[in-house]
Amino acid sequence: MSDCIFCKIANGEIPTNTVYEDDRFRVILDAAPANEGHCLVLPKKHGANIFELDGETVSDAFAVAKKIAEAVKKSMNAEGVNILQNNGEAAGQTVGHFHIHVIPRKSGDNVTIKADAIELSDEEKQNICKKISDEIS
Ligand code: 5GP
Ligand code: ZN
Repeated sequence: MSDCIFCKIANGEIPTNTVYEDDRFRVILDAAPANEGHCLVLPKKHGANIFELDGETVSDAFAVAKKIAEAVKKSMNAEGVNILQNNGEAAGQTVGHFHIHVIPRKSGDNVTIKADAIELSDEEKQNICKKISDEIS
């Protein structure tokens, strides 16, 4: 994708802080980090989101995210790590090239990742459960 900023970064056309690179992935520091050591795992192959990228690249990207989570936990003296991955504008995705956020966390830090629970009846839960399970082949 010639006009995709993360394609250009992942493939080295635009230089940036790279913490890890192999033939299929580049891991960079987020330009507007939520915390010190906030990294983004970028596949070099373009796919807009989890729906458009092939399953093998998605699962291998999560294997890279595990490696990065371990590295940032140790190097940033973090107590925990959030792994976030947004798909679609409605889900907060702002860059249309699949990426995984790896965010080191310490108790009392200023990062807020929060969703208020919605109320559902048992019947509604059963209907939702059936709808989703019917879609899984
Ligand atoms: P999203 O909201 O799509 O899940 O996350 C996009 C992330 O990419 C944001 O956290 C944003 O700060 C980061 N970002 C956007 N443009 C650039 C860039 O040009 N360089 C880097 N290093 N990060 C970027
Ligand atoms: Zn791209």
